[in-house]
Amino acid sequence: MINKFIFDLDGTLIPCEPHYQRRINTFWTLMDSEFKDDVPTVLLVADMVEKENGRLIDERGGFEEDIFALSLVNTYAALSKMASSAVSETRKDQLFWLGMSVWDPENYEHTLLPGVIEVLDMIKGNGDMLKIYTKGPKKHQRMKLEVNGLLEYFPHPFITRMKNASQLDTIVDGHDKDHTYKVGNSVRSDVNPATAAGIRAIYIPREEWLYEQGHNGIERKDRVVRLESIRDLQRTYPLLDTEWDSLTLARQEK
Ligand SMILES: [Mg+2]
Repeated sequence: MINKFIFDLDGTLIPCEPHYQRRINTFWTLMDSEFKDDVPTVLLVADMVEKENGRLIDERGGFEEDIFALSLVNTYAALSKMASSAVSETRKDQLFWLGMSVWDPENYEHTLLPGVIEVLDMIKGNGDMLKIYTKGPKKHQRMKLEVNGLLEYFPHPFITRMKNASQLDTIVDGHDKDHTYKVGNSVRSDVNPATAAGIRAIYIPREEWLYEQGHNGIERKDRVVRLESIRDLQRTYPLLDTEWDSLTLARQEK
């Protein structure tokens, strides 16, 4: 039986969160120079940015390219208010473009996590099916795939503003659910939606931001295998058909 693997991109095949964290650090340094002793701690400021980011995603109903940039601008406005200081339009512009620079292709070029190509080659070489399902702005998600040579493996990427159950169904496309695997780094976006759709999940925890932490734990541990890194999939792949039950979290945590 042919297996179908549905991969997530950000945080699974390439790092993503560090690009945001670096800009939040720069943002804090700018706020420090602006507000001096009135600026809250880095942690608190980062939390404000991430919460504003999440609020904007909910408000827009999806991931759009200017949301992170606007969350910096809006957090600056909030800090100005806290410090009873006037908002500068020049500063707002500067922060907007700082946020938008998260999409510069240089961030993503040749940033595949160790083992990705070996894993994809192995799966492809065995005649299994490779799919990718990723959320974010279409042109930027496509750019990330392109600058990492991933379009060769995923010529028809499924890119969405917000992942949902019916899209996942479309990608599963009637394939045998015990031979369909979602591979991703997020419980909220990858693991629980996969098991809710009846397919199997391979969970590789990594660099989650606040949005991804909004869940109540793994729902179906009997349908989830957790790996330390994508590289581990090389070792686990040959065992998926025959040893699945013993590899699952339900069994491992006993
Ligand atoms: Mg991810």
